[in-house]
Amino acid sequence: MADDSTQSFKAVDLVVQLSPALKTKPHVVDFGTVFTDHMLTVEWSVTEGWQAPFIRPLANLSLHPACSSLHYGIQLFEGFKVYRGDDSRLRLFRPMLNMSRMANSAKRACLPAFDQTELLECIRRLVEIDQDWVPRSDSASLYIRPTFISTEPSLGVKRPGRALLYVILCQAGSYFNSEADAISLWADPKYTRAWKGGTGDCKMGGNYGCSLFAQYEAGDYGCQQVLWLYGQDHQITEAGTMNIFLHWINQDGEEELATPPLDGIILPGITRRSILELTRKWGEFKVTECYLTMSQLCSALKQQRVKEMFGSGTACMICPIGHIVYLGENLHIPCRDKHSVKLTSRLTKELTDIQHGRTPSDWTFEV
Ligand SMILES: *Cc1c(COP(=O)(O)O)cnc(C)c1O
Repeated sequence: MADDSTQSFKAVDLVVQLSPALKTKPHVVDFGTVFTDHMLTVEWSVTEGWQAPFIRPLANLSLHPACSSLHYGIQLFEGFKVYRGDDSRLRLFRPMLNMSRMANSAKRACLPAFDQTELLECIRRLVEIDQDWVPRSDSASLYIRPTFISTEPSLGVKRPGRALLYVILCQAGSYFNSEADAISLWADPKYTRAWKGGTGDCKMGGNYGCSLFAQYEAGDYGCQQVLWLYGQDHQITEAGTMNIFLHWINQDGEEELATPPLDGIILPGITRRSILELTRKWGEFKVTECYLTMSQLCSALKQQRVKEMFGSGTACMICPIGHIVYLGENLHIPCRDKHSVKLTSRLTKELTDIQHGRTPSDWTFEV
């Protein structure tokens, strides 16, 4: 049975082939352009099951041109980071949540199951081998990109008989440079990122490839990201590739931090989940997973009930939202709570302190 985890590859079987020549590490680079020396690959086939995992020098893949990941998008990915603390130790942030999200995406893509703990251990070994790539800076990190593709070499639209799971690592620069700058969003109901019964809750490449066209149209309107709306009532769902939060005084006059519920069209972000858990623990205001519509937002803005709005995700962690262009109107979102520390700054600091080991937490996993 392909979905029996006892059939998974095992980290004890890892074969490691080190690169004979290590690359020089450039100082500042664009995200996702410079990769480390090694990669992890694990092959699977329906006849032989999982092969031994393999860490080897980063190299091009060789794929059959009929490969069904290329034709039908049978693939998925994950994204998380390894942080170097003040103590120089390397930490991952809640990596088992990435493993289980990846397993969910794999199930939805009809790709084979694997043991999540074994994959994490293989990734840990890869990071350990390429540890010198993790920046010594507090504001930069190394990004981990697990990828799982069908390598089925035939054109039938069917469950893959061959697959490749691989993991690559790349530099992720400082996000503090842009942290202070609030982004602008373009909201137009003519585009939809995800729909009920679809795959918007899985990190599958197609979701992102499909969003590019709208992303460039947002640029034509002078905006940086798309605010994805859903349904007749223009529900607010996500901002670009981030989950979205509204800190406001709700219709009942209560201070509330709200984000849309995980109903299938929202990607279950680990940053999202962590923000919900942290703020619920503070107990300072109501924390709610509820539907938010553009008309609710517009009337809250008119009545000055909006405190802050922000996106969340591994890439930038917390990203304040400053403007929304919606049906020809330019909505100004307040970014500052005059009477206290901004929620965005406070959350950024709390999460950064955990990731860098300054606040001890069982959310971190040492490499
Ligand atoms: C990855 C992703 C997020 C954020 O998830 P994190 O686990 O917090 O990085 C949010 N929305 C979309 C569409 C995503 O792909």
